Amino acid sequence: MARRFAGERLVIATHNRGKLAEIEALLHPFGVEVVGAGALGLAEPEETGATFEANAALKAEAAAQATGLPALADDSGLVVPALDGAPGIHSARWAGPERDFARAMALVETRLAGRAGRSACFVAVLALAWPDRHVETFRGEVEGRLVFPPRGTRGFGYDPIFVPAGGSESFGEMAPAAKHAISHRADAFRKLVAACFARAGGA
Ligand code: IMP
Repeated sequence: MARRFAGERLVIATHNRGKLAEIEALLHPFGVEVVGAGALGLAEPEETGATFEANAALKAEAAAQATGLPALADDSGLVVPALDGAPGIHSARWAGPERDFARAMALVETRLAGRAGRSACFVAVLALAWPDRHVETFRGEVEGRLVFPPRGTRGFGYDPIFVPAGGSESFGEMAPAAKHAISHRADAFRKLVAACFARAGGA
């Protein structure tokens, strides 16, 4: 049984304003006041973990320790089984310092040349850490397949090369609401809310 969030203030361990706004909207119905790591002047810890869970947890724990408040962090990426799980936790790094995802997608295609299998999944892990070092993690996934060349100009990151299972459009072609309804991040959020935020008898 997961520990429930009983406070009012929650630190969101991200410096990304888009993520902060998205999380604020999601948790608003539960009377949670969210505050961003950037506004608190928190440093971003180095992501030294070997898994999405470890990296999400270390970010959430660092923020909880620094503030004395519960903190939420996420870690996500694209997992390609034919590449032994790469780019995985290094998904952002494959785009280089210029955050060039055309290059990152081309790298995935090059590495796949001559290998069998185009299945892939996006993974998102959310970690909720308390100042006493208790941590809960929730993993969301969406299965699909890779397509080349990249398709569509919507979304971000690896969206143009990912077609979700049962679909024909890439995440880069789909309307944002359609992607958000089935995304790995939405899956992880549903699990977090059900375990730690939803009121007994329904949300
Ligand atoms: P982080 O969790 O902010 O470190 O992001 C990891 C990286 O995974 C991002 O920079 C993207 O490259 C990739 N990624 C995570 N989620 C998505 C998604 O929904 N679409 C496309 N790329 C994603």
